[in-house]
Amino acid sequence: MTNQINNPQTRQWQEMSQRHHLAPFSDYKQLHEKGPRIITRAEGVHLWDSEGNEILDGMAGLWCIAVGYGREELVEAASRQMRELPFYNTFFQTAHPPVLELAKAISEITPPGLNHVFFTGSGSEGNDTMLRLVRHYWACKGQPNKKVIIGRVNGYHGSTVAGASLGGMKFMHEQGDLPIPGIVHIPQPYWFGEGGDMSPEEFGIWAADQLEKKILEVGEDNVAAFIAEPIQGAGGVIIPPESYWPRIREILAKYDILFVADEVICGFGRTGEWFGSDYYGNSPDLMTIAKGLTSGYVPMGGLVVSDKVFEVINECGDFNHGFTYSGHPVAAAVALENIRILREEKIIEKVKAETAPYLQQRLRELADHPLVGEVRGVGMLGAIELVKDKQTRERYPEELAVGMICRGHCFANGLVMRAVGDTMIIAPPLVISRDEIDELVSKARLSLDLTLRDVQA
Ligand code: PMP
Repeated sequence: MTNQINNPQTRQWQEMSQRHHLAPFSDYKQLHEKGPRIITRAEGVHLWDSEGNEILDGMAGLWCIAVGYGREELVEAASRQMRELPFYNTFFQTAHPPVLELAKAISEITPPGLNHVFFTGSGSEGNDTMLRLVRHYWACKGQPNKKVIIGRVNGYHGSTVAGASLGGMKFMHEQGDLPIPGIVHIPQPYWFGEGGDMSPEEFGIWAADQLEKKILEVGEDNVAAFIAEPIQGAGGVIIPPESYWPRIREILAKYDILFVADEVICGFGRTGEWFGSDYYGNSPDLMTIAKGLTSGYVPMGGLVVSDKVFEVINECGDFNHGFTYSGHPVAAAVALENIRILREEKIIEKVKAETAPYLQQRLRELADHPLVGEVRGVGMLGAIELVKDKQTRERYPEELAVGMICRGHCFANGLVMRAVGDTMIIAPPLVISRDEIDELVSKARLSLDLTLRDVQA
């Protein structure tokens, strides 16, 4: 499946990779045997590699390119800001216009009551900030024992020590003694993989009830917060059964703990609403944001804090936490412009009314494929489950790595689709057109056919 290499520069870059570059989440030996594909350019929803191949980016970079590649306005916003004020910190009683204007703009689009923003360089740093801030909040309220944070198995909240601990990825916990103390996990609402004989609705209630069980086990007086992605992204685009979030809301209303929505993927329009919390009608006390905030053009993340939480920490002296790049002016200028584009071009409204329904309809046509056990999706998120038996949801043996075979065929045929085990996932740029959706689905079908052929061989 290795693509033919004709450009001598590709080899040179691959050698640089082998000698000097440590890529994230990679088996270095394996990576170097094949060599990375070198992406050199992008426009709209398409990428080009150093061999001149055109690829439809079904993953929006890494869930982040909301407004599409090649938006000159973002380039302009960055260069204007670099000329005016390329950097200044926001630590010692200073601030600058872009960070303040951005904080205000975010408060206008977030759900009611979420009006205060702590900026970070990434989603992981946003979740680290959350962990420190919620413990600070409870200490300020005279309840310093409320420290434990409840996350979910197979949730993803980043790669820093706190981020990886809050997440429930076993293969990450296995490296470096994670999770750190004070973080526990409950099962995920993944009906297709774990629902057994229960109906999706029954399973959703069961999975939500695990939160109450855990709160009682740890003791309400020891629990600081519950963190969850509205839809788990990196875990495999896990869309909870309809019964899940209403039951979680009931449980949260019963106990005095904070609710943190990790909106790093779902935020900024991915579900067809500004935030995944809007889509489900959830009212978080805190929200982590990143990715779509700047459409990925420059790194930026943040933690959005509700009035309720702010009022407590506001009366409690210093919050001893911050990053050199908290509120970086160039990132803030790009984020502001990105939000302006999303608003003025009504991109999210268009996703909701036109392109997401079309994408979801076209994707579901793949459910008739012999390899496909389920197709699910919301907005510009989709998942395709690859199975051996459509009826029983039985998987192929793990050693066969069917998901990786399919990912390889996608890539070779000009489509980026990611594999999480044997779940194929997509999250294209929000600006993808109907024609491009047709292209995505036909490339996906071809890749499924080729995967089936390999599996049968
Ligand atoms: N939370 C979620 C839900 C994510 O998907 C990610 C990144 N994929 C993160 C946090 C971490 O963000 P970053 O990689 O910017 O640190």
